[in-house]
Amino acid sequence: MKNYKNFDSAVIHGGIFGDEKTGAVNVPIYQTSTYEQKRLGKHKGWEYSRTGNPTRTALESLIAELEHGVAGFAFASGMAAITAVLSLFKSGDRIVISDNIYGGTFRVLDKVFNHFNINYKIVDTTNLEAVEKAVTEDVKAIFIETPTNPLLHITDIKAISDIAKKHHILSIVDNTFMTPYLQRPIELGSDIVIHSATKYLGGHSDIIAGLVVVNSIELAEKIAFIQNSTGGILQPFDSFLLIRGIKTLAVRMDRHVENAEKVVEYLKNKKGIKNIYYPSNNAINKKQAKNGGVMISFELEKNYDINKFFDSVKFVALAESLGGVESLVCHPASMTHASIPADIRKKVGITDNLIRLSVGIENINDIITDLEQAINESEVK
Ligand SMILES: *Cc1c(COP(=O)(O)O)cnc(C)c1O
Repeated sequence: MKNYKNFDSAVIHGGIFGDEKTGAVNVPIYQTSTYEQKRLGKHKGWEYSRTGNPTRTALESLIAELEHGVAGFAFASGMAAITAVLSLFKSGDRIVISDNIYGGTFRVLDKVFNHFNINYKIVDTTNLEAVEKAVTEDVKAIFIETPTNPLLHITDIKAISDIAKKHHILSIVDNTFMTPYLQRPIELGSDIVIHSATKYLGGHSDIIAGLVVVNSIELAEKIAFIQNSTGGILQPFDSFLLIRGIKTLAVRMDRHVENAEKVVEYLKNKKGIKNIYYPSNNAINKKQAKNGGVMISFELEKNYDINKFFDSVKFVALAESLGGVESLVCHPASMTHASIPADIRKKVGITDNLIRLSVGIENINDIITDLEQAINESEVK
């Protein structure tokens, strides 16, 4: 029996708590590929670790509980999770995607799934009329991110799932940027939630992992079949590390968000900064998420040298990725979003002076002191 009600207890007690056999408070790492069977056709529910592994199962039941879904699935990366979900579709199907979706999602559709005649339509999903218009007969799903990366555009999750329901197609949300602590799409009607657990769920920049949560038994059976057939599973040790990371999700996110809000306040008053992207005041975000999250993007004014900024950060590290305890900055135009064609990049606003910041949980004064000196250093005099 689950004797707790709140999310910050569920991250610690959710799924399968501990080990019944020994009383260990942590689920053991079942580092095994196979399981001894008593007789032909008689086993203990485990046959082969691609199909199922108790450590992975513990993680999968935990994320299903946190996202309020029917079942969860753990994959070797966020991209493996996305690939498994896209494997639901058939030749001739099309998928509507947000216009500044994660670069890797765009790339796998544009360069891999197109081989199988599964194509996409890029739509500004913040514009519901445009989404409605894009859902033609061949469209079988709407795949959104909200907030988007790196411009933090907000799409109305409930409105999108309503459109999907009306047309009997799937609504899929990549919830990496918010985590179930801040936003739970299945409660808003979405069918499938995807995570790059490499980011906030893992939280320590030490694993690559992906998760999928579905809202129905039918979808659970399909994803389980795809997971077992294509085999992009998460290993037992990484499953353990991810469970370990999720235990501190609530406390980490509280500190991440507190720091992010302070950085936004600082940037608002800082000379040389224009276009700060942070969704805290967006009415739709307020309705569907707990707060504005952790990611901030901002632009340097024209008379600031972007290379010099990245050369000057010392405490805040220049790196791809996000969501770890340490603060990271990156240059979307040349790093995370380089695979998006330059004209589309420019159209959506990913300019060459845009900086994306994943605010860590360090002392806020150290984060701001470093940004202050790097911004000052990059002014062209
Ligand atoms: C990082 C990321 C992915 C891809 O995940 P990997 O774990 O790197 O494979 C997908 N979606 C979003 C929003 C991401 O930030």
